[in-house]
Amino acid sequence: MENSSARKTVLVTGSTSGIGLGVLQAFGAQGCNLVMNGFRDQSEIKDLQEDIMRRCGVEMIYSGADMRKPEEIRGMMQAAEKAFGGVDILVNNAGIQNVQPIDEFSDEKWDDIIAVNLSSAFHTIKAAAPAMKKKGWGRVINIASVHGLVASKFKSAYVAAKHGMVGLTKAAALDLAEFGITVNAICPGYVDTPLVRGQIPQQMKEHNLSEKEVIEKVMLKNHAVKQFVEVGDLAALAVFLSSDAAVAMTGQALAMDGGWTAQ
Ligand code: NAD
Repeated sequence: MENSSARKTVLVTGSTSGIGLGVLQAFGAQGCNLVMNGFRDQSEIKDLQEDIMRRCGVEMIYSGADMRKPEEIRGMMQAAEKAFGGVDILVNNAGIQNVQPIDEFSDEKWDDIIAVNLSSAFHTIKAAAPAMKKKGWGRVINIASVHGLVASKFKSAYVAAKHGMVGLTKAAALDLAEFGITVNAICPGYVDTPLVRGQIPQQMKEHNLSEKEVIEKVMLKNHAVKQFVEVGDLAALAVFLSSDAAVAMTGQALAMDGGWTAQ
């Protein structure tokens, strides 16, 4: 890779599954040291870690930090600092979802979604920025969503958090530009991951539809390209944003959404 991310350290929050795992593996393939985070069965995490380290010939540590808890986030960043001397590329990906009309929306789910999908990115950026500033180089990639740009029914907390993530991306980009650090957001349309599969039963209930109808009439309804976005394609965009060729891109919200927001 003609790219400054070779042999750099990459931390991806929520990288035990779905998009985050794909992004982590893509940076592993580029020869970066890796910090994995997220929840999953311990033996599966160990297997994933060993497999990626063997295939990519890279070092990896795992942090089980809960992204709802700022002190655990700071502990994760300290562990990365101790293992690798700091994080060069930070990917804020951890995310959760809940689908309910606003007047029935669970208070606890609102708080958790804002904490995991938005506030955690503030805490990770705050913790990672000093080492990036010292090196005069850094990349922050926030996995927002098409729901950072437009809304859908029954997703008040998620839409609020993702719009916040796009705003945070712009603000952090301005604060950090003079230190060689870029901050961008990726806004995917629907991607076939456990997060999406998990919301199908709720969507079936709220819209009174079958599983097939939820996929076709709710999820892919706004995709002009009638297919899910691929994890590998999102990961390739994250790798590009970390390259030197992307040095002049900052504060951007880049949609990979099958043409959803072109309408
Ligand atoms: P996923 O459920 O497969 O993965 C979510 C990851 O976040 C997992 O590793 C999980 O363990 C982790 N996580 C959840 N709560 C956490 C917490 N409190 N602390 C630490 N880690 C936690 O989901 P995904 O679809 O891969 O989503 C990844 C990101 O992409 C999310 O931010 C999501 O909003 C965003 N996104 C997804 C889609 C989609 O269609 N799948 C579309 C747009 C944006």
